[in-house]
Amino acid sequence: MIRVALHRGREARPLAGHPWIYASEVAKIEGDGAAGAVADVVDWRGSFVGRATVNPRSQILARILTWDDEAIDREFFRRRLEASVARRRPWVQGTTGWRVVFGEADLLPGLIVDRYDDLLVVQTLTAGMEAWLPTLAELLTERLAPRAIFERNDAPPRRLEGLGLRKGFLAGGGPTQVWIEEAGAAFLVDVAEGQKTGFFSDQRENRAAVRALASGREMLDCFCYSGGFTIQALAGGAASAVGVDLSAPALRWAAVNADRNGVAPRAQFREGNAFDLLRGFQREGRRFDLVVLDPPAFTKSKAVVAGALRGYKEINLRAMKLLREGGLLVSSSCSYHLDREAFLAMLAGAAQDARRRFHLVDFRTQARDHPILVGVRETQYLKCAILQAL
Ligand code: SAH
Repeated sequence: MIRVALHRGREARPLAGHPWIYASEVAKIEGDGAAGAVADVVDWRGSFVGRATVNPRSQILARILTWDDEAIDREFFRRRLEASVARRRPWVQGTTGWRVVFGEADLLPGLIVDRYDDLLVVQTLTAGMEAWLPTLAELLTERLAPRAIFERNDAPPRRLEGLGLRKGFLAGGGPTQVWIEEAGAAFLVDVAEGQKTGFFSDQRENRAAVRALASGREMLDCFCYSGGFTIQALAGGAASAVGVDLSAPALRWAAVNADRNGVAPRAQFREGNAFDLLRGFQREGRRFDLVVLDPPAFTKSKAVVAGALRGYKEINLRAMKLLREGGLLVSSSCSYHLDREAFLAMLAGAAQDARRRFHLVDFRTQARDHPILVGVRETQYLKCAILQAL
């Protein structure tokens, strides 16, 4: 058995339930700790801490799979997958697009599995999970009987693990575009060409919240992707909606989705930079009753949080200026480096610069099929504030 021995004192975080062991915390590796191998993590006295996969090429040298003395084998992964599926039953009613496994939060570090109707999309983001990919594909087929499993292993973080980028079918075949249902609305998901694994299921519950607040409102949906918020708001009775995105394919899917849901006459989609569009609307004196901001993570590292904050503040301040009295701003950030306090402080700064006052009427997070593991702050990444303009 390979052993990863920690420096004295470095056992505290993993013993508290956090799965990550950084290279700087490791005193020595005994045995052949090749990328992806299973190893025991032990403290400075040699006492067992947990069983992990290792990758000497990664800054996160080991990721703990279990804190028990149990075998890491096919049966282990079968149990973990079964538990993930079973836990989600209460949270994914009324949708055929949901996250089956959310990595660390489901005690399967580095593994993402999304279900879109009869398709499964898989990402293995660590060498440790990659080693088990054929087993995982078999187990997922046994448990969920999908038509096909599509691998979206073209996610850049794989490079940090020394893994290459690729995508394609792992099992089965057929069309890579499927329709999913979400709260009575239908969305086209392109698992091969879409962003991430094809759809942003993490915003599902926030889209439902917007739908419930949308009646009669004129909406602006910035960073609309395939029209998720736009279509749910229009389904909830919004008077009109403008959706904006930089991506031409995303807007083509948005138009198809608007059409399929019978809301196309009230929807307009514009290709462009949301920063410029917000500035343009301000110059023209346009006003809205509902503005949604759902930008991509402006920061993927701790180092550039300051620059990202300027970006978030700019779009929020511009959106705030476009709101009528009583209007709603639904503002998200999916960067986990920006915590709740920093996000709220940014919103306060934006409101001050916009010379507007707001009530914080709701503060939300990711949908519950993207669970937050208590004690592992990296698993809570999505913030969604709903503000009402005075
Ligand atoms: N709200 C969407 C998900 C948004 S994901 C939903 O509910 O499904 C973020 C989107 O921002 C992506 O579609 C990306 O193409 C777009 N984007 C990134 N930078 C942008 C910019 N500067 N202006 C407009 N759109 C941008």
